[in-house]
Amino acid sequence: MRISLKLSRIKPSATLAMNAKAQELKSQGKAVISLAVGEPDFPTPAHVKDAAKAALDADFTRYTPVPGIPELRDAVGGYFGRFYGVTPPREAVIVTNGGKQALYNLFTALLNPGEEVLIPAPYWVSYPDMALLAGGVPIAVPTEIENDFLVTVEALDKARTPGTRILVLNSPSNPTGCCYSKAQLDAIMEWAISRKVFVISDEIYDQLVYPPAEAVSLIGWWEKHPDGLAVVNGLAKSFAMTGWRVGYCVAHPDLVKALSKIQGQSTSSVCSIAQKGAVAALTGGFEYARMMRENFLRRRDLAMEIVSSWPGVKCPNPGGAFYLFPDVSALYNAKTPDSSTLCQRILEEALVALVPGVAFGDDRCIRFSYAVDDDTLTKALTAVGRVLLS
Ligand code: PLP
Repeated sequence: MRISLKLSRIKPSATLAMNAKAQELKSQGKAVISLAVGEPDFPTPAHVKDAAKAALDADFTRYTPVPGIPELRDAVGGYFGRFYGVTPPREAVIVTNGGKQALYNLFTALLNPGEEVLIPAPYWVSYPDMALLAGGVPIAVPTEIENDFLVTVEALDKARTPGTRILVLNSPSNPTGCCYSKAQLDAIMEWAISRKVFVISDEIYDQLVYPPAEAVSLIGWWEKHPDGLAVVNGLAKSFAMTGWRVGYCVAHPDLVKALSKIQGQSTSSVCSIAQKGAVAALTGGFEYARMMRENFLRRRDLAMEIVSSWPGVKCPNPGGAFYLFPDVSALYNAKTPDSSTLCQRILEEALVALVPGVAFGDDRCIRFSYAVDDDTLTKALTAVGRVLLS
């Protein structure tokens, strides 16, 4: 089969691949626990499901406007107003097929061939491949575990060239769970605006932040510099709606038109029924997110206690999301010299699926998701510890 050259440089998603391997072992009757998935283990809230059922019963089943139904675009504006005090107008909002489509289409809309995208490493697996598919050149910017894997202005300035077009920021981060403070983000934004580097702020985990860390959005920066950045978010993680595929982006109205053009010629609008569910989510109460936050915080502490007891393993205590990203390189040996072979061994011997850090741009680490119940988490981490320390 003849496939385009462009695809030869693209890797399949490592997290989805690891999950598929775990499913395969499960189907052979093995009791595999997956800590590889990036989704809450809670069901979608009842009021959201009810709104979708009502939409279906009311035959709300036709194409909708490409950038989203007006009430959802307004609900997105209302979300930012409610949590961050800035309400972007409807024409600055586009509803997308998950946060993923917003990101993909932003790269497509903004990049000319060969333009560079600064991506602080470790990074979410899809950013480099998305940039490549859009004709750009991903540039990984190093961070230090001692600085909670947060990028500094100095590191960004070192990586910048005349060809730099975009910087991707992700706080809380997947895979590290680490969060930037407002002061850190302000310093980076001042640098980016002064250097004319467009910022994409991926805020998909903003409802899953644990004190003393604080949720910070760059929407205030967007209000001051609407052509300097775009803010991406979605319903997947905050409302346990990963399969509904609803994300959104706030950007300059001209950029929203460009994103709409791409969407109109590729996928059209997001599923009409899912959009009605999203309106109910964003305009309803946020008690459900608080409930998930409390559970994830407890599990983070549980997981941190076990992981920190492993000699030689370093792991920052993350302020958000539901991942731990420990540096386990002190435990590498001739048989398991890197994160891929180690994860393979853990899968075979402990029957626990994890994702190798190399997929996130750091081969010293492995990623655990703690979006499973407490007993499963304890059982899985104890089994991993036994393999690691054997
Ligand atoms: N951004 C980050 C950092 C993610 O971890 C994910 C999903 O795992 C996404 C974006 C995409 O989310 P969605 O399911 O809304 O496409």
